[in-house]
Amino acid sequence: MKYLAGYPEATQARVRALIAQDRLGTYLRDKYREPHEVRTDKALYDYVQALKERHLRKAEPLNKVVYDGKLQVMKHALGTHTAVSRVQGSRLKASREIRIAGVFRDAPGDFLKMIVVHELAHLKEREHNKAFYQLCTHIEADYHQLEFDLRLYLTHLECKAWMVGSGS
Ligand SMILES: [Zn+2]
Repeated sequence: MKYLAGYPEATQARVRALIAQDRLGTYLRDKYREPHEVRTDKALYDYVQALKERHLRKAEPLNKVVYDGKLQVMKHALGTHTAVSRVQGSRLKASREIRIAGVFRDAPGDFLKMIVVHELAHLKEREHNKAFYQLCTHIEADYHQLEFDLRLYLTHLECKAWMVGSGS
């Protein structure tokens, strides 16, 4: 349950129950039906730039926006719920580029939007502090629910991969 480590034990227990009953995938599919069309780095740049223009026009311009197949979502994108990622902060400060983990290319559109909002908010707030999350919810009112459901989605993908890997 590494994606949910920052959440209360009761919440984790409910998620474990959903997994045990094989209902997590259904829950996610019912709730997030819309895929997205942002398939290429160029399309991703346009998508991010449009959101930035709308909500963070004064933040510094972006040099680069790409999908990165090697990026680990937990380590470099979401961080943990409480910890601060210094590496990410300096990387963003140094280059003003946004890298989106490759897994989002095939994820539902709402999750792509959530991670883009997250990365855009880092242009103004480096750390995962209160101001950071206020900015996220200002851009996307459902931010917290989306981040939680994204963590469920990643948990679900990992369960599926494990089942395939173990041959069952
Ligand atoms: Zn972050």
